[in-house]
Amino acid sequence: MSDCIFCKIAEHEIPSDIVYEDDKICVYNDIAPQAPVHALMIPRKHIASLDDVTVEDQELLGYMLSKVSDIVKILGIENGYRVVSNNGDNAQQTVKHMHLHILGNRKFTWPPG
Ligand code: AMP
Ligand code: ZN
Repeated sequence: MSDCIFCKIAEHEIPSDIVYEDDKICVYNDIAPQAPVHALMIPRKHIASLDDVTVEDQELLGYMLSKVSDIVKILGIENGYRVVSNNGDNAQQTVKHMHLHILGNRKFTWPPG
């Protein structure tokens, strides 16, 4: 999608600190980290939010979750981490390209704020 900042990151059209990428996903460090380690995993396919996921995307979404254990090893947070996806206004989703926040290296509280 031409005006999507995350699509542009995945296409290397704007700079980012990419930690992993392949033909389906891209993972890069968040520009405003909320933990000592804070990366974002996106599908290369533009999907605005989980509301827009269809049955055609089930393999892609499954692939994303299957890669989390590899990514947290790359990030060095395999001993404990949090995966979050904000969707919609009440959840304060600010970028309308579905993504997983992967956070680690601090104690997290529950319930989240
Ligand atoms: P959300 O608020 O859940 O939609 O998450 C969007 C995230 O994208 C925020 O944590 C931002 O800090 C992050 N972000 C926005 N622009 C960039 C960028 N150019 N590079 C890396 N992370 C970004
Ligand atoms: Zn996009």
